[in-house]
Amino acid sequence: MKVAIIGAGIAGLTSARELTRHGVQVQVFEKSRGVGGRLANKRLEWGNIDMGAQYFTARDERFQKQVDQWREQGIVACWQFNPHSLRSGELTTRPDSTPRFVGTPKMNSLAHALSQNIDIAFQTRIERLERTKDGWSLVAADGHVIQERYDWVVLSLPAEQSKVLLSGTPVECQIPEQTHVPCWALALATLGDVPAEIQGIFGDEVVSWVSRLSSRPQRHFQDKESRQKGLGNYDDLWMLHFSSEWSTAHAKDSAVNITQAGLEWLSAALEKHVEKPLQVVHDFKHYWRYARVKDDKAASSIIADRSSGVGVIGAWSAGGRVEGAYLSALDFVDYFFHEDN
Ligand code: FAD
Ligand code: NAD
Repeated sequence: MKVAIIGAGIAGLTSARELTRHGVQVQVFEKSRGVGGRLANKRLEWGNIDMGAQYFTARDERFQKQVDQWREQGIVACWQFNPHSLRSGELTTRPDSTPRFVGTPKMNSLAHALSQNIDIAFQTRIERLERTKDGWSLVAADGHVIQERYDWVVLSLPAEQSKVLLSGTPVECQIPEQTHVPCWALALATLGDVPAEIQGIFGDEVVSWVSRLSSRPQRHFQDKESRQKGLGNYDDLWMLHFSSEWSTAHAKDSAVNITQAGLEWLSAALEKHVEKPLQVVHDFKHYWRYARVKDDKAASSIIADRSSGVGVIGAWSAGGRVEGAYLSALDFVDYFFHEDN
């Protein structure tokens, strides 16, 4: 049995690992140069920055078990912070006991761990799928036809992208439309003295979440070379995720200065907690077209059709979070091995 998996995010890699464990021949195709998808880490001259997911929670027992293993292996650590919230312009705290986790040293360390011994074709964007009499045929973006034929194809992409690839197949109409809303992500390196207890802020209708990246466990932001170049002369690294409403209103081609908007927001939030205004020394921004899910209660965590050998999975179908990506893959593997499903 040969299975092609499109996408090397947490969902694609988890399904690849589980199928491989059970003796299935798996080939993963990934359009970018590395694994992790929306657990992206950007290596900049002045720092290594997690641009996508900032932390994750584990509510389901199956994922908790996996997280425990990752913690034992040193791939995941608990980020114990006291969440701050912005209410009517004031920072308040509402301590809770929710365990929140980060990959160490980067969020995509989980993806690296899952990808061990998995065959992945990088920089291979799949653009077309065809069901032939010998199985699924895959065509890459450069027109190159993958020689192998596959009994199954598993799409672990944002729903919008899976729907395009499966257009014209009976599965297409089961995939919902416009599942995601966008998010501007802004990294700031700042000078200024901010109290240590401010580590994460649940924001408002402009910026929904702020991570003080430099407060998270086991972060290695710079290599020796960038320190020698003097690029490490800052006190803090922050990640601001703008709200979906704000990001939709100020889409990728908007003229708004995202860095200025982010700095103004952060300065206002911290105003009563700093003696001098923060100064930005480096910035980097990224527009995520597929970020939050509009509806975190999809009808089912997988869409699958045994007769044609198609599986459609991904975080979007199970809550839109890292845990959901993992669980949708497990649900698919369960379906795959149980003919009566
Ligand atoms: P992805 O990670 O998107 O993986 C899909 C992969 O498919 C990608 O690697 C992509 O490059 C590849 N691909 C796409 N098209 C093709 C193609 N045609 N051919 C080949 N490869 C292709 N979740 C949390 O739990 N906590 C958070 O704090 C959090 N914050 C977030 C902040 C942001 C800004 C974003 C964007 C997401 C955040 N999330 C968070 C959500 C979480 O990151 C995602 O739900 C999860 O990582 C998605 O995993 P996935 O495997 O379903 O998809
Ligand atoms: P979680 O349980 O920490 O938070 C869920 C939500 O509950 C938070 O967004 C926040 O609004 C609220 N919240 C929780 N604890 C709080 C506290 N002590 N004080 C005030 N508000 C509190 O985490 P989760 O459910 O695993 O979700 C993970 C995170 O991923 C969330 O922050 C979510 O918004 C974020 N996310 C972001 C994007 C994006 O595109 N920016 C996409 C997917 C998920």
